[in-house]
Amino acid sequence: MKWNYTQPVDIRFGAGRVAEIGEVARERGLYRGLLVAGGHSVRSGLAQRVLDHGRGTIEAVFSEFSPNPDVTEVDACAELIRTQDVGFIVALGGGSALDLAKAASVIGAGSRESVGSITDYHGTGKPLPLTHLPLIAVPTTAGTGSEVTCVSVLTNRAAGVKAPIVSNGFYPELAIIDPELTYTVPPYVTACTGMDVLSQAIEGYWSVGHQPICDALAVHAARLVFEFLPKAFTTPDDREARERMCEASVTAGLAFTLPKTTSSHACSFPLTNRYGIAHGEACALTLDYFTRINAADPEGRVNALARSLGYRDADGLADAIADLRRTLGLRENIADLGLGESDIAALVRDSHHPNLDNNPVVITDDNLLALYRGLASGG
Ligand code: NAD
Repeated sequence: MKWNYTQPVDIRFGAGRVAEIGEVARERGLYRGLLVAGGHSVRSGLAQRVLDHGRGTIEAVFSEFSPNPDVTEVDACAELIRTQDVGFIVALGGGSALDLAKAASVIGAGSRESVGSITDYHGTGKPLPLTHLPLIAVPTTAGTGSEVTCVSVLTNRAAGVKAPIVSNGFYPELAIIDPELTYTVPPYVTACTGMDVLSQAIEGYWSVGHQPICDALAVHAARLVFEFLPKAFTTPDDREARERMCEASVTAGLAFTLPKTTSSHACSFPLTNRYGIAHGEACALTLDYFTRINAADPEGRVNALARSLGYRDADGLADAIADLRRTLGLRENIADLGLGESDIAALVRDSHHPNLDNNPVVITDDNLLALYRGLASGG
């Protein structure tokens, strides 16, 4: 077996470490910073705290974007970067803030004439330029792991497409992971983001691009989720649970960024796009189904993963995923959407995202039909 491993992001982890932002910016010679901050960060005063911690290195704020950020919002941020001659970016928020900032750090690094618009690259397969502004990622959810990945997930609402872009230019220079920033995450968002962590760990492990270092990271992250997500959900001020979920999130990010995600992520995109189901909830909806299907993996890796996590086999792991989803009060089906056969056919068609090709077992249209018919009928 041949494999490569690389991880270019410096990581600073620990409670209270967001206060180090000004010091690290100065150490690295970063000035004229732009803070890309999500709505929660602005409303709660966290964005102002980060500006203060920046000790004069951060001069502007961009917060005009939505969850599941749109390509038009990336272009607007890139334009601000150009007009304000921004020197580096601090991305503060959940995956939406981080992904928008990653894309804008590339598009805004050159002129509109030379680099173009993010729409030239989103869903087109055209490689992005590697030149980008330095980015410091400060996640406030646990989470997407976006602070250590080369992925930016963007939505083109006008075209009805949500899709990830992968580029080595998206790796942040530094991730500051401060668990204290996640204490305010409400239970539903805790549940969704925590199930995203589990999906990334499990899919990174069973991806056809698997490798031993990422396997070890995936097992560690998945164990942490099963142990600490229910605690973080029911007891939001449990400091240990919050910290261990942040550890799970960054570890899962490292576990999937090279092998890439697979079937559950491929299906999550149309579920979010068409029906507005939150990303982690959409991933969780199909994770147990694919765990059972992927038990047929000729290498026996899914059963091996299940045993590493303390379950008898893949079915035992799938049952545990369904139990956890129930404990967290996340949707177990999509019966309430009242979908007909044409809606189901559209979901099947739109699930044929390239991530599906990373799945260890070939997923046919019949598999997808069975999945969506089952979910739509509440079965
Ligand atoms: P999010 O960033 O969309 O945030 C969800 C909600 O939680 C928002 O309303 C936000 O304001 C709020 N919020 C964030 N932090 C909070 C806090 N500390 N306290 C209270 N409220 C808070 O959600 P997310 O799940 O972190 O990110 C989802 C996005 O990330 C999706 O677009 C998904 O596709 C993408 N994603 C990216 C990667 C990657 O590697 N780039 C991986 C997985 C998912």
